[in-house]
Amino acid sequence: MSTATEETALNALRGALGDEWVTEASATDRVGASRPKWVVHADGTERASTALRIAAEHGMSVVPRGGGSKLDRGESPERVDLLLDLSAADEVVEHAAGDLVVRAEAGTPLREVQRTVAEAGQQLSLEDPHPTATLGGVIATRSAGPCRYLHGGVRDLIIGITVVCADGTVASSGGKVVKNVAGYDLGKLFTGSYGTLGVVTEAIFRLHPLAEERRWVAVTLPDPRAAAEAARLFRVSRAMPTAVELDRPAGRAPITVCAELEGRSGVTGERAAELARSLGEELGRTCEVSGTAPEWWGRLPGEPGASAGIRMASRPSELVELLEGAGRVEDETGVALPLRGSAGLGVLDGGVPAGSSDESVAALVEGVRARAAALDGYTTVSWAPESVKRLVDVWGPVPSGALTLMRRTKDQFDPERRLAPGRFVGGL
Ligand SMILES: Cc1cc2nc3c(=O)[nH]c(=O)nc-3n(C[C@H](O)[C@H](O)[C@H](O)COP(=O)(O)OP(=O)(O)OC[C@H]3O[C@@H](n4cnc5c(N)ncnc54)[C@H](O)[C@@H]3O)c2cc1C
Repeated sequence: MSTATEETALNALRGALGDEWVTEASATDRVGASRPKWVVHADGTERASTALRIAAEHGMSVVPRGGGSKLDRGESPERVDLLLDLSAADEVVEHAAGDLVVRAEAGTPLREVQRTVAEAGQQLSLEDPHPTATLGGVIATRSAGPCRYLHGGVRDLIIGITVVCADGTVASSGGKVVKNVAGYDLGKLFTGSYGTLGVVTEAIFRLHPLAEERRWVAVTLPDPRAAAEAARLFRVSRAMPTAVELDRPAGRAPITVCAELEGRSGVTGERAAELARSLGEELGRTCEVSGTAPEWWGRLPGEPGASAGIRMASRPSELVELLEGAGRVEDETGVALPLRGSAGLGVLDGGVPAGSSDESVAALVEGVRARAAALDGYTTVSWAPESVKRLVDVWGPVPSGALTLMRRTKDQFDPERRLAPGRFVGGL
């Protein structure tokens, strides 16, 4: 943009929104390697819509921001003129406790939603260790914690959404039909879209009753085969765990597999004791029952201090191959890769310790990716320094049919490629 166009655009934004809602970006307002020019704050759908309409009229690129805890994920956008900050849109609009439904603005911290619904003995079955993570960010990055195993992820829990499209048009799923977005389930589509299709301003979620009692049943095994067998036994047990997670420190260290049980007070403890007894017999090991989660539960491995995060996934039945493959790649590259994640779903996060060279981290990603691909699985780089991102494809290959579909969707929602351009799979 020329300086004169920039000036006109800025005046239009300040005129329509008010000076206090438009500020110059500071060094901390980065999105990966990209630096925006301005930050526009929006306290709801209307202000977000005005901002996007003016941005469209002046050809400005826009990246939405919630709590800012995940802006370095994915590829850095090719350009960012405006950072559209939703943190002032932070109201829990309605909690229909009788219907187990909550409606909240996108900038509401997930923790605030949990606090509100907990007053009625309910929970939104999503977990996030980041105090600043907002509903919008959790939707856009498809984040879910261990209990996704039983309750499903964002896509399964979202029942309504309001978004602002690239031209400022407001659309709601199940509500107003907008010509170019008719026929889409917006809630499902925007889940994991990383701000590239539009800006989420409000969402409606299904809730679950808060458990009266929780128990964790854990067992530590010497190798991937035994750990995968424990995960299988947890999965097929009648105890119906809410989550089945594992923790494997780097190298050949023993692996802890742990299941969480939730339910009515008194009964859950008995279920846990029974599960620990029967599993212990089958595995020939002692299973521990605890009233508190292990300290690693729901936290990414290697943090604080990890220099890169990797996510790998395959079918749960191939967990042993996934774990053994990661171990071999550690040997080949000399890079340690502590692993943690859902043994029940076959999704593991790896945290690369600081101090590894960019080239060796890139080799680690390629090695793990090749092994996951051989299992029909995938590997993505969750976060990494820009110098590593230059050496590897963050998202990895996607089937060409899927990419064609994603391109078509992007063209419909953001034909001018102004929303976080280049951030997503295949340069979308
Ligand atoms: C078990 C677990 C452990 C985790 N541990 C960590 C950890 O240790 N460290 C860590 O950094 N993360 C961690 N995460 C990730 C965590 O989920 C994210 O920090 C969080 O989901 C991002 O929310 P945010 O509001 O900060 O989003 P932001 O960082 O602000 O944005 C994230 C993305 O969403 C887009 N976006 C934001 N708001 C909107 C909107 N309203 N409409 C459209 N797009 C939008 C942004 O453009 C960006 O692409 C963990 C997640 C889980 C499940």
